[in-house]
Amino acid sequence: RVVVVGSANLDLVVTTPQLPRPGETVLGGDFRTVPGGKGANQAVAAARAGADCAFVGAVGTDDFGMLLSDNLIAAGIDVRGLRTVDGPSGVALIAVDGAAENFIVVAPGANAALTTLDAADRTAVAAADVLLLQLEVPLAAVTQAAEWARADGTTVVLNAAPARPLPAELLDLVDVLVVNEHEAAVVGGVFTEEPGALLDALVTLVPRVVLTLGARGAAYADRDDVRVEVPAPKIDAVDTTAAGDAFTGALAVALAERGGALTADTAPAVLRWACAAGAACAQRPGASTALPRRAAIDALYAA
Ligand code: ADP
Repeated sequence: RVVVVGSANLDLVVTTPQLPRPGETVLGGDFRTVPGGKGANQAVAAARAGADCAFVGAVGTDDFGMLLSDNLIAAGIDVRGLRTVDGPSGVALIAVDGAAENFIVVAPGANAALTTLDAADRTAVAAADVLLLQLEVPLAAVTQAAEWARADGTTVVLNAAPARPLPAELLDLVDVLVVNEHEAAVVGGVFTEEPGALLDALVTLVPRVVLTLGARGAAYADRDDVRVEVPAPKIDAVDTTAAGDAFTGALAVALAERGGALTADTAPAVLRWACAAGAACAQRPGASTALPRRAAIDALYAA
């Protein structure tokens, strides 16, 4: 079982011929609402990739909260750990122009209320083979969940997004850190574009690191000096939004199916399968709606 402790947001997306300047009003095009938030996206990604999955998080008492919770339930996710807190749900206001340039403002809403976890959350984490975390809910909850998982000997996977420098208190509890190149530089405190140098910096902080490299694939490093690099499947990318969430969710599933272990032996297959998930997501327009099912991941993996 994969247990996610993280965020749920509703993405409010409008297309516009051009992004407005401060003070300017522009007439946009289509508007749509799409369930999002890195936590919820990665839970849906894990469920679609074939895992038994549970989500611990918070939504608000507004209509959006109902939408977000229905979306998780529809994906077959155990939502007993999803609480409804007074006030608005988390939302992301997103405007996208014709060149796919965007601006995004996230209002954390209910996600910010997930400061303390309770006895029921302790039970939820105890059932995990892999605990999957991101950084869109308060660090106190992320750290608490990681402490419990560590006490149980459960694998802790942290996707350090959105990027920020992290306290040793949390890093010491992480088994597998998943980052893209930007996140790697921020978490590692190094300013290089060289993947090898990013990995070198990060394995001093955590035992295992997975670095995503967009269309180039992904790389793995651990403290035994193991280095693995795998290419991404060659595809026609339509929209890479949520590709990182698809990758991370699938990675957690692949680890859960191996009893939580990521080793030098299993890393090539695990990374290739996660890359297939990221690529399958990038082949379709949309964010969470494009998160792939297991059959689509397996098909690209085999190709
Ligand atoms: P993020 O979206 O978090 O910035 P990346 O851009 O590194 O992360 O993408 C995550 C993963 O999705 C990559 O490791 C890769 O497997 C897959 N992916 C992303 N873009 C492409 C692409 N253009 N072609 C093939 N795979 C892709």
